[in-house]
Amino acid sequence: AQDKRESLYILNQWASKFFKQNLWETDFGKSIGLSYFKERGYREDIIKKFELGYSPDQWTTLVDEAKKAGFHESFLAELGLAIERDDKSLYDRFRGRVIFPIHNLTGRVIGFGGRTLKTEKSVAKYVNSPESEIYHKSDVLYGLNFAKKAIMDADLCYLVEGYADVIAMHQTGVENVVSSSGTSLTTGQIKLISRFTKNVVILYDGDAAGIKASLRGTDMLLEEGLNVKVLLFPDGNDPDSYAKQVGSSVFKEYIEKNQEDFIFYKTNILLKDAKDDPIKRAEVIREVVTSIALIPDEIKVSVFIRQCSSLLDIEERILLSELNKIRLGKA
Ligand code: ATP
Ligand code: MN
Ligand code: MN
Ligand code: MN
Repeated sequence: AQDKRESLYILNQWASKFFKQNLWETDFGKSIGLSYFKERGYREDIIKKFELGYSPDQWTTLVDEAKKAGFHESFLAELGLAIERDDKSLYDRFRGRVIFPIHNLTGRVIGFGGRTLKTEKSVAKYVNSPESEIYHKSDVLYGLNFAKKAIMDADLCYLVEGYADVIAMHQTGVENVVSSSGTSLTTGQIKLISRFTKNVVILYDGDAAGIKASLRGTDMLLEEGLNVKVLLFPDGNDPDSYAKQVGSSVFKEYIEKNQEDFIFYKTNILLKDAKDDPIKRAEVIREVVTSIALIPDEIKVSVFIRQCSSLLDIEERILLSELNKIRLGKA
C-alpha cells in the first residue's frame, strides 16, 4: 500500500511537470496560458513558485504521454488525471485549462485545480481533481506548504476562498494565507490551521455567497477555540481582484486597518437587515449570543458578552440568561 501511494505521488509529480512544460515551453502554452497569467498580473517568479501550468486543449495528450512514460492507466484514473469512457479508454480531465497544483504540507503534489479561459457561463470555471488515496479534500488547505512559516512568524493566518487569492496575496508580500478552495471550511482544515496559530482572519469574497460562508466559517473557527476576525472587500471584490485594483501597498494597509472582531462583524451585518424592527433586533441578539456560546473558553465568553452588551445596548444579565438557555438547548 505504501508502494502504491508512492507511485501516485510520482505520477502527480510527473503530471505537474507536464503541465509546467506545456505552459513554458510550447507555443500554445505561452500564447494562451502564460499570457493569461500575465494578464492577471502574475509575475514570473510567482508563476514558478506556485508551479502553475497549462493543459493542452486536446483529448488525450496527457494520457498518451503518461503511458509512453510507463505509468499505469489505473493510476491515471485513480488520481483523476484521466477519466474513463464506457469502453474503458481514457481521456484527459484537464483540457485547455490553466493549472494550479495542490501540495500537501511537505510540498508534494496531491491534486490539481484547472481554470477555464472561457467566459461562457455554461463552462465550469474550475475543474478539480477528485478525492484519491493521497488527496482528502477536507484535510487540505491550498497554499499551506508555502504559508506555514509565515503563519508561525506572524502568529496569524489569513483565510481566503480561492487559489487566485492565495497567489495574489503572496505577490503583494503577504504570505501567511491559505484557501479552503471553494468548499465550506471543515473541522479537519481548522485543526490543521491551529497547529500553526490560533488567530484567523477571514478574507472571503465580498459577495452574498462570501458573506454567508464567512458567518458559517466564523462559528466553526470559534467552536474550535480560535480567535476570529473578518474583513470584506468593497464592491464584491475578492483579495485577488482588490489587490489588482489598488496595488500592493494600499491592499496591505486595507487588510491591516479593516479587520473586525467577529462580534462586531456579525452584529453589523445582521443589524443592517434588522433596521429598527424590535423583533428583528431581538433575533440579532440571539444570533450573536449563539456564536458566543460556541466559544470553549469561559473568560473569552465573558469578555464577548460584555462587548455585546455595550454594542447592542442590552443588559449583560439578560445576555447571560440567553446564553444559558442556548447552552441548555444544545445539551
Ligand atoms: P478567479 O479569480 O480565477 O475567477 P476565484 O477563486 O475568485 O477564481 P470563485 O468563484 O470566487 O473563484 O470561487 C472560489 C474557489 O471555489 C475557486 O478558487 C475554486 O477553488 C472553487 N470553485 C469555483 N468554481 C468552481 C467550480 N465550478 N467547481 C469547483 N470548484 C470551484
Ligand atoms: Mn466567489
Ligand atoms: Mn473569488
Ligand atoms: Mn477571483
